[in-house]
Amino acid sequence: MPSGTILVINCGSSSIKFALVDPQQPTFPLNGLAERLGSPEAALHWQQDGQKHSVAIAGADHLAALAQLLPLVQTVAGAQLAGIGHRVVHGGEHFSAASRIDALTVAAIRATAPLAPLHNPANLQGIDAALALFPDLPQVAVFDTAFHQDLPEHAYRYALPETLYREHGVRRYGFHGTSHRYVSMRAAEMAGLPVADSCWLSAHLGNGSSTCAIVNGRSRDTSMGLTPLEGLVMGTRSGDVDPNLFGHLSRTLGWSLEQTEHMLNHDSGLLGLSGLSNDMRSLEQAHAEGHPGATLAIEVFCYRLAKSLAAMGCALPQLDGLIFTGGIGENSALVRSKTVGHLKLLNLRLDPAANAACVRGASGPIGESGHPRVLVVPTNEERQIALDTLAEIAPPTPQNQG
Ligand code: AMP
Repeated sequence: MPSGTILVINCGSSSIKFALVDPQQPTFPLNGLAERLGSPEAALHWQQDGQKHSVAIAGADHLAALAQLLPLVQTVAGAQLAGIGHRVVHGGEHFSAASRIDALTVAAIRATAPLAPLHNPANLQGIDAALALFPDLPQVAVFDTAFHQDLPEHAYRYALPETLYREHGVRRYGFHGTSHRYVSMRAAEMAGLPVADSCWLSAHLGNGSSTCAIVNGRSRDTSMGLTPLEGLVMGTRSGDVDPNLFGHLSRTLGWSLEQTEHMLNHDSGLLGLSGLSNDMRSLEQAHAEGHPGATLAIEVFCYRLAKSLAAMGCALPQLDGLIFTGGIGENSALVRSKTVGHLKLLNLRLDPAANAACVRGASGPIGESGHPRVLVVPTNEERQIALDTLAEIAPPTPQNQG
């Protein structure tokens, strides 16, 4: 395993999530969040040696927030700081792996911005700020889409006129690639199987959710598409709907393109179905208290998830296991149990006690013996970004291969 400490940065339009990652260590020596950037309420929160800290940084933008972070990073990492890894959401067809940041990489991320108009410009703000503050450190972009660049054409093409693909890049890209890759490698390790000879279904279930079919370490299909709206029911995103909905709502309600797009991304999913919350924890509680909207939201979420996993099964020659990860996948025994309950055709069955025990970071097998594996595997995108960054900065040699 390559050594060195990496600062991992994940920039949103008004936030920066960060972590110092030493892949030799099981936990992060420093991690935190700068939020509400650009507003009077901007604040920096961080955790170091188990202690939580916060400072107000009123009006700070990305550059000012990172400048505030700089001394902390230098104190904690010192001379061990080997580089910076940036999470970048969309690499389009330019990037099938992590890429050292230089003028060409920045130009390609910028050129891909029309495919991710909210995310890539925010990621670039973080890259610009980090380049200004850490000019001498190697920096690497790690893309959510890169793992899925290997999909076969029959999985990534939409049944649309070819020019839309050839001239405008309209195709399925997929997201959460860093997470699906990380948990499938961990699952192979846990099962004692070689990554290069193992087949997995992976369900990353958080505020955004997706499924993935992974064969011998390669993504073969995934549920998100051109954008992260396609596929599963999510916190506030609808997932799959009939695309004619845009025309229907325009004709019947006079809704604009922007209104429908906003509704599908921000008012739908668990929130829309329940009329209560986008948060699975709150919905589980409300369901236990008899709230019909919460019950319906959970039922639709699990059924649609199972349907997607069964469909992903088409991409597998065999099934070595089903992986649950993400905030919901790692914690909700109810969602896991209801979902697996719909997958009898795949011969999947849970061990109820093992399922109930796998919460709050616990990992392990939860399937009944004699049936295909079902595993809970906590994801760690920061760790994978740090490993990819180190590999880009110092490619493995016979000496540092781990
Ligand atoms: P993430 O985006 O991966 O942080 O996941 C966020 C989702 O995980 C939210 O819907 C949370 O409600 C859900 N979640 C976190 N902890 C639990 C829990 N103990 N039980 C059910 N859902 C949870």
